[in-house]
Amino acid sequence: MTIYIIESLITYHSLWKQFRWLVSLKTTHTGEKPYHCSHCGNSFRWLVSLKMHERIHTQEKSLSNVPSV
Ligand SMILES: [Zn+2]
Repeated sequence: MTIYIIESLITYHSLWKQFRWLVSLKTTHTGEKPYHCSHCGNSFRWLVSLKMHERIHTQEKSLSNVPSV
């Protein structure tokens, strides 16, 4: 009886591991570049790279908005 429970637990665990692995594969495939630039639509894999990229746009803005004094 206990052996049966342990065996079923092991099968459940391996199935769960397989399921998690498949989910991780799916998410990494579909969400390869989940961060999109709101200015030009460029996509980035990391939020840091998006933030670094967005700096270009904000700099462009600040440069174009420089008051001609
Ligand atoms: Zn951009």
